[in-house]
Amino acid sequence: MRVALVTVGDELLAGDTVNTNAAWLSRKLTDRGVTVERATAVPDRIGEIARVVNEYRAEYDAVVVTGGIGPTHDDVTMDAVAAAVGQPMEPSEPALEYIETQRGYAREDLTEGTTEIPAGGQFIPNPEGVAPGCHVENVYVLPGVPEEMRGMFGEIADQFSGTVKHTETVVADEPESALLDRIENLRGRFDVTVGVYPGDHVRVKVSGTDVETVESAARWLAERVDHPDDQSR
Ligand code: ATP
Ligand code: MG
Repeated sequence: MRVALVTVGDELLAGDTVNTNAAWLSRKLTDRGVTVERATAVPDRIGEIARVVNEYRAEYDAVVVTGGIGPTHDDVTMDAVAAAVGQPMEPSEPALEYIETQRGYAREDLTEGTTEIPAGGQFIPNPEGVAPGCHVENVYVLPGVPEEMRGMFGEIADQFSGTVKHTETVVADEPESALLDRIENLRGRFDVTVGVYPGDHVRVKVSGTDVETVESAARWLAERVDHPDDQSR
């Protein structure tokens, strides 16, 4: 399954808020075997959100959108998703019932529009907050508040699946440039993807769907690099 993430909020683009929602969702989806193909941050503007959601829903199996679903004036994500799927907004009776019976709010205390979602969509319960999420076509809309987003993702997680990849990491005490020939050789010999992450030491991540192939590839490489604790150097 190929998925795109859209995180909404001016504060993400201004650098005021670190985009932990994108990282958290990417990790969770990848762990489930999903391939996350895009993670795009967009401003709180209907046109911008709708344009990106529309492009991604045509291209990927699912789109997960977070942020901007509260009832305040700057929260326009639901309207944008409604525009993207070409549906009007309408109040969700199941969402209202959930908020009343499970969360203890009175109908008349809710800000107008709180339970509105795109027509034809299904509301997703928000166990940590008030604003409901929504699943319409292949688009999932979740809140921006990280705690609420994580709680709501728990309600839909089992709708995301794929072939889980196995990963082995080989740590090398050599400059990245010195490893290039062996990495190239590794790629040619084994059916794996290889990621090279420089830092204090170079971390080489070897991944693939077949455990034995990944283990063989990692072993092959490990036998041919200098390790940080290698006393023979
Ligand atoms: P609410 O109903 O509370 O308004 P919301 O869905 O409208 O929720 P936002 O208004 O977009 O959410 O954001 C609420 C807060 O959540 C922001 O102040 C920010 O701190 C945090 N937040 C939003 N998006 C992200 C993100 N991608 N990563 C981390 N934190 C985020
Ligand atoms: Mg908000």
